[in-house]
Amino acid sequence: MHSCDEPPAHPVMKTNEEPDICSVCLEIKVKPIFLPCGHSFCASCVDGWRDQYGLTEEEKNHGSAYGIDVTTKYRTCPNCRSPIPPTRNMLSSLHAFTRQIRDLERQGDFESRAYQLLDAKLISLNSQIGDDWDGVTVLDDGEEEPVDLPVPIGKCVEKNNIPKMLEWFGDPDSPEFKRKLNAQVSICGNMTLLQICGEENNTDIASILLQLGADVDVKDSQAATYLVRTIAYGQGDFETCGKLALEWGAATTGHPLDVITILADTGTESGIFQSTLMRSEFGGRRCEVIGHDRSELNGSTCVTDVYLPETDEYECRMEHTDEELVIGHKNLKRRDRTPQDPGYYIEFKDGKLTRREFKSNQECQAFVASVDPNWVVQAGKAAAAEREAAAKAEAAAKAKAEAAPEPGERLGDKPSKKRMEKKENENARKRQRPV
Ligand SMILES: [Zn+2]
Ligand SMILES: [Zn+2]
Repeated sequence: MHSCDEPPAHPVMKTNEEPDICSVCLEIKVKPIFLPCGHSFCASCVDGWRDQYGLTEEEKNHGSAYGIDVTTKYRTCPNCRSPIPPTRNMLSSLHAFTRQIRDLERQGDFESRAYQLLDAKLISLNSQIGDDWDGVTVLDDGEEEPVDLPVPIGKCVEKNNIPKMLEWFGDPDSPEFKRKLNAQVSICGNMTLLQICGEENNTDIASILLQLGADVDVKDSQAATYLVRTIAYGQGDFETCGKLALEWGAATTGHPLDVITILADTGTESGIFQSTLMRSEFGGRRCEVIGHDRSELNGSTCVTDVYLPETDEYECRMEHTDEELVIGHKNLKRRDRTPQDPGYYIEFKDGKLTRREFKSNQECQAFVASVDPNWVVQAGKAAAAEREAAAKAEAAAKAKAEAAPEPGERLGDKPSKKRMEKKENENARKRQRPV
């Protein structure tokens, strides 16, 4: 067996390998991940490898139906078979689930549905991490520590205070901007703004965040994404938030919570409908029409709905004409919404939200390209001005209150002991302040 005892300080590739080529997909590496053994692969290839290695096609596609956990076990380097350590995300899920299950046990709960689900998740996660994990090494998956989302900014969603949120984002050209879009509230389960939008059922702000480039698949401390929260915790409405997430390309698999199974398990009409929708390849997604007999449809986009297995077709609604059609699977191709190609545009201008519709994607793309990225700063300035005025008013009120004598004192009296102490404290504080 290949020895990987000594991880090199810098990843070393064998000389007969192209250093930039991923040996799983044989393409140029995208977001490469360096394993402790020194081999590196595309981030998605490592994930894919973990999920798929050792499974037959049949098991990959239908494994969960046979009770095979398709996310487990396969965590060795594709080149040398040395173990792949868990990611930080997996460990934070592990801690969160362990804490939750201990809470339930403390309440004497060892058999509720919630307990069973958590137990199953823990078993799956533990086998993903593996018994041979050294308990120390963490896979650097290139994910930076998230920016901490201040609670008052999180509250902007609830209060619909868009300018204040935009002001906090700041300059769209700054490197911090994108990270702030995906900021997470550390004292509240690492929720993102997008996830808060889900809770508040606010698809306007959610669309603005996605248009600005927020990542739809950021996971909170329970490893739940925006979509998972909407579904598994019943936060937000699937018809609005859930579908928005799907149209923007949200992943439906790949997290410890198998949301599709959870939904099917509910046995409710909506749960079964939603799980069936997400089990189909294009259900709920935004797609482009290709190779259709009605050639004018080709290249245009639609949002797909229910899958019709008898005919291998989908019920679809064309995006720019609202025409409802039934389109064959072979005539559809996923085309997730992106900031450059959103299909529609939620505009925030002069304190007002407007949903802009277009006649075509070309028109929409041209509009998006013409939007001054600095609109974020402009809109944020309104909030800054407002806050400054409020601060000035407060300072003025405070100055007035301080000028007024304290109760029990008359003008001309000697300064009271209390006041002297206060003054002394203030001076001390000033002295301590760094220059
Ligand atoms: Zn690759
Ligand atoms: Zn290796």
